[in-house]
Amino acid sequence: MRGVDWEVVIGMEVHVQPRTRSKMFCGCAIAELNAPPNTHVCEVCLGLPGVLPVPNQAAVEACLKTALALNCEIPRHTKFDRKNYMYPDLPKGYQISQYDLPMSINGRLELGERRVRIRRVHLEEDTGKLVHAGDKLHRAWESYVDLNRAGVPLMEIVSEPDLRSADEARDYAVELQTLLRTIGASTADMERGQLRAEPNISIRRAGSDELGVKTELKNINSFRALHRAINFEVERQKEVLESGGAVVQETRGWSEAEQRTFSQRSKEFAEDYRYFPEPDIPPLELDRAWIEELRAALPELPSLRRSRLAGQLPVGLANAIGADRELADLYESAVAKGAPALATANWIVNEVAPTGKLTSGANLAELIRLVDGGAITRDQAREAYLESADTGRTPAEIVTEHGYTQVSDESELRVLAEAVIDANPKATADFRAGKKQALQALMADLRKRAPHANPKAANEVLAKLLG
Ligand SMILES: [Zn+2]
Repeated sequence: MRGVDWEVVIGMEVHVQPRTRSKMFCGCAIAELNAPPNTHVCEVCLGLPGVLPVPNQAAVEACLKTALALNCEIPRHTKFDRKNYMYPDLPKGYQISQYDLPMSINGRLELGERRVRIRRVHLEEDTGKLVHAGDKLHRAWESYVDLNRAGVPLMEIVSEPDLRSADEARDYAVELQTLLRTIGASTADMERGQLRAEPNISIRRAGSDELGVKTELKNINSFRALHRAINFEVERQKEVLESGGAVVQETRGWSEAEQRTFSQRSKEFAEDYRYFPEPDIPPLELDRAWIEELRAALPELPSLRRSRLAGQLPVGLANAIGADRELADLYESAVAKGAPALATANWIVNEVAPTGKLTSGANLAELIRLVDGGAITRDQAREAYLESADTGRTPAEIVTEHGYTQVSDESELRVLAEAVIDANPKATADFRAGKKQALQALMADLRKRAPHANPKAANEVLAKLLG
């Protein structure tokens, strides 16, 4: 089988914790990451006898908004089901999930040229967490269970196997995160487990329509890990098939430490879970008027905003700004206050995004006027930006208060440049002998003497005197 061209086929299951204050079926508050174990639990999420679960409306709303943003159909009726299995992190012995009547079906997410079909978006509850003393289960002498997470709402977003590479799978997950944040359905922070991507991967001979045997990957907690895990798994499957073996359908974990996947357990099939309708929650009939209200209230979605921004900006900048709703809002509000588009976009990507601090559009527009007009240096503008973001004061006030100025006056710059030339005879001679890069050494000395000199104007004066 060597020399075969393989096609990679990837579907994604993404679990997302919707932004809610309380758990899926009880009033327990969502625990902070560092909360002491088993402090956010009650009779309902511990599965004690005689209690009744009540669906969380905020979770239903987040799920519907996500489904609508993914162009899903919302069936008239939906219900919850019990998925039965025994595991120590599952106190009830079953998980309340959705089986044959999910909250939404048949959506899509546009990923540049590729359209990824969404099979369903449904709601369920999370499990607790096991903590193994000694790091790994087979070496642990004691295991502990923390049920703070048991019963936390989860949306499961299932795609069809429409992705064809690790790059596409990563782009899909990133786009989903942007979308969830834009519509306010989730903070979708991967490192905090609020967005968990589980790709299922198979390979097949190029040109074939049949699906190969797939493996599902877990324990992935960054986009980088997602990309690496998929590439590792694809290579592993190729080796298995090319040496005459068969891929086993199973769940495999990703080891960040060893940068490889390892077998966790053979994959369960649906019949193993003995699904049946949750008898304690009546089927939901979703109010159509409410759904239309939610649809109408959706903000502009990232793909649309990006294509609109791409009409004003180079594609790279449009994508960088369009990927973050807050940055995009800041950009548009500064431009609406008269700031030039390109300078504003560059400033946001290079100076605002790394600080994570935001100011108003009016303040940013003012700042860009000051720095673009040569009144202050870029370093001063950076300082003024941070102070403005922290205090809410205007850049003009801050600049005046600190006495920020930039020397652009030609006669002042000429005095400076003459002093620099006198002090650096070698670099001056080198430059005059044709070594153009000697100008950089002279400029460096000038800026050391006068940090507030306007670099562009100083450069011109220096070049004129040398020429
Ligand atoms: Zn509870």
